[in-house]
Amino acid sequence: MRFEKKVWLASPTMHGDELKYMQEAYSTNWMSTVGKNIDEVERLVAEKVGCKYAVALGAGTAALHLCTRLAGEALYGRAPAGKGSLSGHKVFCSDMTFAATLNPVAYENGEAVFVDSERDTWNMDPVALENAFEKYPEVRLVVLVHLYGTPAKVDEIRAICDRHKALLIEDAAESLGATYKGKQTGTFGDYSAISFNGNKIITGSSGGMFLTDSEKDAAQVRKWSTQSREPRPWYEHEEIGYNYRMSNVIAGVVRGQIPYLEEHIAQKKAIYERYKAGFAGLPVTMNPYDAANSVPNYWLSCMLIDESAVKRVSPEKILAVLTEMNAEGRPIWKPMHMQPVYREHSFVTAAGIDVGADIFARGLCLPSDNKMTPDQQDAIIAAIRECFAASKI
Ligand SMILES: *Cc1c(COP(=O)(O)O)cnc(C)c1O
Repeated sequence: MRFEKKVWLASPTMHGDELKYMQEAYSTNWMSTVGKNIDEVERLVAEKVGCKYAVALGAGTAALHLCTRLAGEALYGRAPAGKGSLSGHKVFCSDMTFAATLNPVAYENGEAVFVDSERDTWNMDPVALENAFEKYPEVRLVVLVHLYGTPAKVDEIRAICDRHKALLIEDAAESLGATYKGKQTGTFGDYSAISFNGNKIITGSSGGMFLTDSEKDAAQVRKWSTQSREPRPWYEHEEIGYNYRMSNVIAGVVRGQIPYLEEHIAQKKAIYERYKAGFAGLPVTMNPYDAANSVPNYWLSCMLIDESAVKRVSPEKILAVLTEMNAEGRPIWKPMHMQPVYREHSFVTAAGIDVGADIFARGLCLPSDNKMTPDQQDAIIAAIRECFAASKI
């Protein structure tokens, strides 16, 4: 069977209020990076996540960049113009993630060292992180992602950071609304970032935010994001700035989406549970999470094929079947230590086994769109079951 309309991995789900707030920006002529939508989304997100300040930016990547620069300057002081704040310094980074998590380390002229993933949550392995500190005891910064909306082992990672006097950047781009021990992700970093990219759990079509409890850091991010102007009548610059502020039109979209975060999470959870039940008896598992300590936002449902079966039914095979059906799947994020651009960088494992490469080789992301109907999902499940049944013959 083939779907007439494509079933997406994760596409924007709009509700109507987005248009109302965009129109409000237009009719009041706040077609700018200033306006009521921006003020409101900053207030609403800070309230929702439980942090004191949220600064609306043009992208999650921009938020992560400013997190990284804040950390670099806090650790090593302000760099001269043209030199990144992490120049000459290594930074421990999640390995299996989207490159945007840690590209900002390169923007700031730092050197990412990749820390392998663990099987329990697919996030940074605390044991591998401890090994990394043993190898490079001078490192003072860690960049941690909550992949696919699944919280990492925050307490373990934080304890290791504290022991080594390291700062933590938290990339909660995919995990808005997920909690760890009852607290929202986006509150655990010394510097935290979220994203409103078009495929995220709620979206502005683009956009991101810097989250913090520090009034000073929030003010610094606001200043950097608007070209680092000093309070003078003319354009006075004591530091390098960026054009990173969120547009008031985009903020209107985000504003309209915020009330639907919980609904989107419930839909994503139902999708995850339906896959899980639907795959019963197959040699596969769903992307795991720590049920005792965390509640994911279930942004993407992923599957991992057992070692015993992956030679018969590969992720490529299943992805090809999904494409045939006009549904969108995707490989797991290819680990950073396997990326050509980072080939010279160090990679530290927990016990000599490359867990990230293994998950990449055996895993895939399944269609996880909020608007996928149960019938469509059942057809996808049936097609995947068929792959395994056919391979037995
Ligand atoms: C989407 C994403 C980002 C970047 O966010 P943008 O808003 O697209 O710049 C960063 N990290 C992760 C893990 C992401 O999934």
